[in-house]
Amino acid sequence: MPTLIDTSIQRGGEWLLEPPVAEHVFTPERLTEEHRLIGQTAAEFVANEVLPALDRLEQKDWALARQLLRRCGELGMLGVDVPEAYGGVGLDKVSSLIVSDRFARAASFHAAMGAQANLTVTPLFLFGTESQKQKYLPRLLSGELVGAYALSESGSGSDALGAKTRAARQADGSFVLNGEKMWITNGGFADVFIVFAKVDGEHFTAFIVERAFGGLTSGKEEHKMGLHGSSTTAVILQDVKVPAENLLGEVGKGHKVAFNVLNFGRFKLGAGCSGGAQCAIDESATYAAERRQFGHPIASFGAIRHKIGEMIARAYAVESLVYRTAGLIDARIGATPHDAADGSAALAALEEYAIEASIAKVAGSETLDFVLDENIQIHGGNGYVRDYPAERHFRDARVNRIFEGTNEINRLLIPGLMARRAVKGTLPIIAAAKALQDELLGPAPPTDPDDAPLAAERRAIAAFKKTALMVLGLAMQTYGEGLTDQQEVIMHGADILIDVFSAESATLRAQAASEVNGPLASLHADAARVFVNDAAMRVEASARQAMAAMVDGDTLRTMLAALRRLSKVAPINTVVLRRRLADAAVARRGYFF
Ligand SMILES: Cc1cc2nc3c(=O)[nH]c(=O)nc-3n(C[C@H](O)[C@H](O)[C@H](O)COP(=O)(O)OP(=O)(O)OC[C@H]3O[C@@H](n4cnc5c(N)ncnc54)[C@H](O)[C@@H]3O)c2cc1C
Repeated sequence: MPTLIDTSIQRGGEWLLEPPVAEHVFTPERLTEEHRLIGQTAAEFVANEVLPALDRLEQKDWALARQLLRRCGELGMLGVDVPEAYGGVGLDKVSSLIVSDRFARAASFHAAMGAQANLTVTPLFLFGTESQKQKYLPRLLSGELVGAYALSESGSGSDALGAKTRAARQADGSFVLNGEKMWITNGGFADVFIVFAKVDGEHFTAFIVERAFGGLTSGKEEHKMGLHGSSTTAVILQDVKVPAENLLGEVGKGHKVAFNVLNFGRFKLGAGCSGGAQCAIDESATYAAERRQFGHPIASFGAIRHKIGEMIARAYAVESLVYRTAGLIDARIGATPHDAADGSAALAALEEYAIEASIAKVAGSETLDFVLDENIQIHGGNGYVRDYPAERHFRDARVNRIFEGTNEINRLLIPGLMARRAVKGTLPIIAAAKALQDELLGPAPPTDPDDAPLAAERRAIAAFKKTALMVLGLAMQTYGEGLTDQQEVIMHGADILIDVFSAESATLRAQAASEVNGPLASLHADAARVFVNDAAMRVEASARQAMAAMVDGDTLRTMLAALRRLSKVAPINTVVLRRRLADAAVARRGYFF
């Protein structure tokens, strides 16, 4: 397979060192008619068929869940990422993102659908043999079969490779599986499971296991905080005989299957959270416009306008970064010569953008929780009772920070992958950090006279990147291979990198919108400016804490002086900007980008 030759597509993490070519950054404003159509199909299906069924799903009506999955299959929603040869519709990752975004309003069913379309179909498409794909994919994509992904166990969640489930190799080449998986989405009624087990107690391996093989049973439904309309059970494997041809990938290579599926799942989860945040903003804006206190709509109070403005600015940044990531993945797949029926180009792209996928997961899930918390607050007492959807959204969303790799594990991965690529030489962070050190010890360069729209924000982002490089460079220099033991410093580094990617994605999008100069152009700029302004304070605070943990005395003083030079971001009047954002949302009764 020829390797990528188009060097204009940024590699994973490269944005830290080089600003991207603005026209190469994908934004929601660049959606095609085909993208809009798939979005509309998904939104109408959710509104007309899933939302009215949510109460019955919450009563654990799994026959209905099956029926809805079938309908998803008929509409092509399960096969967005899979070529037609296997019964899919073979669209790009932007389409895939849009489907997740639109399903977010029905989080319980979205979990069931994600376990099928992302966690079962993806490993089969990326790692299955031709006959495995032919056998399982068409029936999974039509919704005839329901899938589940069985990785976690009671003793091994984050530490997935510590699984205790065993696969004993038999003389005829088949395997006998024994063990117990935990918290499996669709566990109560799935037909096909991607199960991870250790061959001969040692080699972590993926298998395709049918319930019909016998010996596989579901535990009782878990009593969860939220997602009551999705099935979550233990899956017990007792002497399950799995034929040799149901080995997925290679013996001992289960980690490749597990981690690449997670890269994809994280990116999709970020997209779902982005859609969920927008849906909550719709609810808040509508409620704030209609609820009156002290003779006025609550939307007229500054405290409420601040909340709505902030919800929009954060949701805007997440939306911008998930579309940017989808655009990168699509561009990379498109630039890699490959056969459409072959998943290897997608696999390489998902690995390449693992850092961005983790950022999408963490930023998406934390923004969503922030927005949903404020949504309850704006609803007051009505936010706390079941008559309004605000409380259900709040409960449903909390798990996003836990599954698909907890946010702590994802935060460890973000600087961890950057550092690994730096050591391998694919991302020249060490050289860039060294050059920066020399630059900061020299005289201050003259201030950039550029006063084009968002020039101050672009300067601020350049400073965030230098701050990230200072922190990462210092951490790698201070701890070397021991860096993995310094989790607190890594967490600060991750927070800075998340803000860099989020702020840059928002600003590039707003810049593109200002060039088109449509009716929303100034609101795009308002959202980006609020986000960058606040990110500046977070970035500086994280950098100060990380530096003080690594060095002290004169070295710390020198580093802090350099940081001060970088952190001279002039504060702006965000009160006015948030008010404008909030007023526009209230007038339109929702998120308007
Ligand atoms: C509703 C629901 C649906 C799920 N669906 C599925 C599914 O379909 N398939 C599946 O396989 N699994 C599923 N899971 C399981 C989920 O993926 C795990 O719960 C998750 O990976 C976390 O594992 P854990 O619960 O064992 O937590 P732990 O790993 O025990 O983590 C506990 C805490 O310790 C932290 N921690 C752990 N290790 C480290 C470390 N090295 N450094 C720093 N902090 C650390 C974590 O971040 C967390 O805060 C589901 C879970 C839920 C709740």
